[in-house]
Amino acid sequence: MEQNLANAQISTTRPRWDRSRMVSRIVHLGCGAFHRAHQALYTHHLLESSDCDWGICEVNLMPGNDATLIQNLKAQDLLYTVAERGAQNTELKIIGSMNEALHPEFDGGDAIIRAMARPETAIVSLTITEKGYCTDPASGELDLNHPFIQHDIVNPQSPKSAIGYIVEALALRREQGLKAFTVLSCDNVRENGHVAKAAVLGLAATRDPQLADWIAAHVTFPCTMVDRIVPAATDEALAQIAGQLGVYDPCAIACEPFRQWVIEDDFVNGRPDWDRVGAQFVEDVVPFEMMKLRMLNGSHSFLAYLGYLGGYETIADTMTNPAYRNAALALMLEEQAPTLSMPEGTDLAGYAELLIARFSNPSLKHRTWQIAMDGSQKLPQRLLDPIRLYLAQGDNYRRLALGVAGWMRYVSGIDEKGNPIEVVDPLAEQFRAIYQHYPSTGERIRALLAIDTIFGRDLRENTDFIEHVTAACQQLQSLGARAAVADLSH
Ligand code: NAD
Repeated sequence: MEQNLANAQISTTRPRWDRSRMVSRIVHLGCGAFHRAHQALYTHHLLESSDCDWGICEVNLMPGNDATLIQNLKAQDLLYTVAERGAQNTELKIIGSMNEALHPEFDGGDAIIRAMARPETAIVSLTITEKGYCTDPASGELDLNHPFIQHDIVNPQSPKSAIGYIVEALALRREQGLKAFTVLSCDNVRENGHVAKAAVLGLAATRDPQLADWIAAHVTFPCTMVDRIVPAATDEALAQIAGQLGVYDPCAIACEPFRQWVIEDDFVNGRPDWDRVGAQFVEDVVPFEMMKLRMLNGSHSFLAYLGYLGGYETIADTMTNPAYRNAALALMLEEQAPTLSMPEGTDLAGYAELLIARFSNPSLKHRTWQIAMDGSQKLPQRLLDPIRLYLAQGDNYRRLALGVAGWMRYVSGIDEKGNPIEVVDPLAEQFRAIYQHYPSTGERIRALLAIDTIFGRDLRENTDFIEHVTAACQQLQSLGARAAVADLSH
């Protein structure tokens, strides 16, 4: 028999509980990198530390590698490895929370629908990426022209979209007089539960308005905030894990040691006590999303633009410069934290310290260039909304302003040494045209500020904002990124 995780002699501990006690109470759609290192790992730790029976039935709907992954999992008794890589050590964990694995190609779509419609299924969780919801980003409603949705409207019993599977399974549960299940989105999408709800109700309404009413009354769609950096598995990462483990695991995944999961506590059919293993159940997830968006993502963007311009390839490289490290911490605590309203007891200083440690982890090769991508979509929530609050109060926001200036300098497409920057952004052409047409800094700033989808009309016309950003741009131009960041501490 070929050696694999199920039968090889390895020193890493296998799950210690009796795996036969697991029941597939969760059906998870989207067994990708993140799910394996996040929800499945939390559930593993809960199974390990209690006598609960919450097991997961894993489903991938997409072909190619996602189908192969399901086959590989089955071939190794649904066990796989998570490598938590800290700055100094890597901890290997053999995860055992998967109880079944299904793919339409090998098991048929029917088997997946039947699994979702079984009485014991209490939760259908999702990590299917933003596009898996088939919603129109502008309206937030289901995109009825999406090819999968068009197919599912005509063939509701043999769906293609994740949303189609959910609606069909709920229709069966209703017919059979079973309780509904909770739909738990764990995608990195703002107010993800609301997005899932709009999609499911949108599709159900095309089929039968009474079904849509039943779903609206009996299904909940809690929002979640999820956090853990889980890069896609590369050949190099898998070989490294195999070296440490002693056997090659094609389903292995590496990630950072940190993990966070904040979940709106609104379940219709029971839930695991994930809070016993580090998750948080809360009434309202939105403040936590805001905290992540501004403190984590906001400082990430700041470090990405100014770090790239300063000649740093990764965020961890950037953090080796004390000026950047101090500026990131000050940005979080002095300019982002005051814009948040968090539930009592939230330790924002502790959160900021943790972020600094995560950003500094050299084993995560998170490129500044990668984080700098799509700034036109990210800047408004990460840097501009907090600035709006300062403008209303008349306070200073020089770090946020330097972050915006860093972005403006970055999208010029030329770095501080005169080398080209590959600017990846839906508006990249527009930025190029602005830098070509307008020779002076002032004109360029005005032209960039006139992009309403980024700055809105309010910021373009706000003299305080224009002055702050212009001063920051001039400083960046005359000093360069490293010195401009260092200057923030004076
Ligand atoms: P991945 O590419 O490894 O996995 C994506 C999963 O989504 C696969 O299982 C795939 O089959 C499924 N999928 C893709 N398109 C689909 C569709 N149209 N319909 C149904 N299923 C579809 O990516 P990942 O890193 O696991 O990311 C998954 C989600 O987790 C994303 O929303 C991402 O934002 C979120 N997330 C990822 C990280 C991270 O560091 N990787 C961190 C936080 C949140």
